Amino acid sequence: MKEKELREIGTCKMCGKGIGQSQLPLFWRVRIRRYGVKMDAVTRQQGLGMMLGGHGLLAQVMGPDEDMTEIMSDIEVTICEDCCCKQIPIAVLADEIDGGDKTDSFTTQPANRILKALEAKDE
Ligand SMILES: [Zn+2]
Repeated sequence: MKEKELREIGTCKMCGKGIGQSQLPLFWRVRIRRYGVKMDAVTRQQGLGMMLGGHGLLAQVMGPDEDMTEIMSDIEVTICEDCCCKQIPIAVLADEIDGGDKTDSFTTQPANRILKALEAKDE
């Protein structure tokens, strides 16, 4: 990873600090993919399986072998070594709360502040 890329990804998604501020010179890049199940494709595959006497594996071989899912979002986030063992909902980490609007100042805050705000809202 070159310096420019390191500068671009060098902020921890959870605490908002630079990765150089953590205890160890290590960090994590976490890829989060959200999938949606294509219900029409699943229905077609199940229908073919029923037509073939309930043999799902036979339908898998005989059918069009189409994708059953589609990728809804695909992101990578940086987590510093200090935050790597903390628990956090994946949706908060992926900014998928409140529609994930990137222009919203709420979702551009570090994830731990979003979590605290959500906990305060529940109380
Ligand atoms: Zn951190």
